Amino acid sequence: MYRKKVTTEALKAWFLENKRSFPWRDSPTPYAVWVSEVMLQQTRASVVISYFNKWMKRFPTLSSLATAPLEDVFKVWEGLGYYSRARNLHKGAIQIEQNGGELPSTLNELLDISGIGPYTAGAILSFAFHQKAPAIDGNVERVISRYIGIEGDLKKEPSKTRLKEATFALLPDREPWVVMEALIELGATHCLPNPTCSKCPLSKSCFANRERATDLFPFKRKRQETIFLEKQVVILLDDAGNVLVQKKEEGKVLGGLAEFPSFPYIPDHNVEEEVKRLLGVEAIFQEDLKQESQSFTKYKVELYPSILHVAQKVEVPGFFWYSLEDLEKDLTFSSGHRRILKQLLLSV
Ligand code: SF4
Repeated sequence: MYRKKVTTEALKAWFLENKRSFPWRDSPTPYAVWVSEVMLQQTRASVVISYFNKWMKRFPTLSSLATAPLEDVFKVWEGLGYYSRARNLHKGAIQIEQNGGELPSTLNELLDISGIGPYTAGAILSFAFHQKAPAIDGNVERVISRYIGIEGDLKKEPSKTRLKEATFALLPDREPWVVMEALIELGATHCLPNPTCSKCPLSKSCFANRERATDLFPFKRKRQETIFLEKQVVILLDDAGNVLVQKKEEGKVLGGLAEFPSFPYIPDHNVEEEVKRLLGVEAIFQEDLKQESQSFTKYKVELYPSILHVAQKVEVPGFFWYSLEDLEKDLTFSSGHRRILKQLLLSV
């Protein structure tokens, strides 16, 4: 009990003195906490700031998000990657609007909302509703597993429950949200993969630091293997400035995002013949653009873009012709294809 008091007071004092200033911390409404936590899931806080501000300007309320077209939501999100996060925020907002318009304040109700998992639900309950609720992300996993020395895979039992119980046990009855946020902040600033224990408020009582064993915690899972792919991207352009694009099917990888036609890359292949064979379009090769890379989930893709001239537009099932002028304004491209589009706009 005494140890817990010392720990929480040290954490609180450290956090109040050292916490970084973020726009979502100024006014932690349930909606703002939800949006910021979703953005922070796969993106660094310093990058999220401008996206968060842009988002709150365009969608200041949950209902403004629920009534916006998905295409607008993608536009504001453009550049953050992992677009399923934006799609789920939009879907979740519609779901909440249909059920009274307020984010609920219980764990089970929050978990019913599209895209809200245990961490985001815990963060909303803690930071917005000031409840005693654990919000366990990768930062907290590092801090707690090192602090008390939890061995084993934290995603599996019994380590999973031990992590949750140990986190909950550290939260005081008074202002538990401050300690919860302090743990996250500690993991993001000092208890990093290479920790700076000398600056940590828990250094004296931390198990891993005492045992000089910080590299043993948390337990490391085997990394998922990366799959490397190479793709030929074709920009089929006519004299009026129209290009052929497709929208990836919803529910699939990169669903809802626009891309130029592409197919497996074979060095020294005849791209004109491939375009005729696969798309049924007669096109004349003009020039190659710079190679681009694109990564998503377990894939790393090298993209080889080429511009081809098309004398006559023909209908291609699953694709549509779009004017270059409107392309950037209206469509949200996947990251690699967006960089190709930028090169294209500079070259025409
Ligand atoms: S002492 Fe080091 S390992 Fe322990 S919680 Fe602090 S930063 Fe992490």
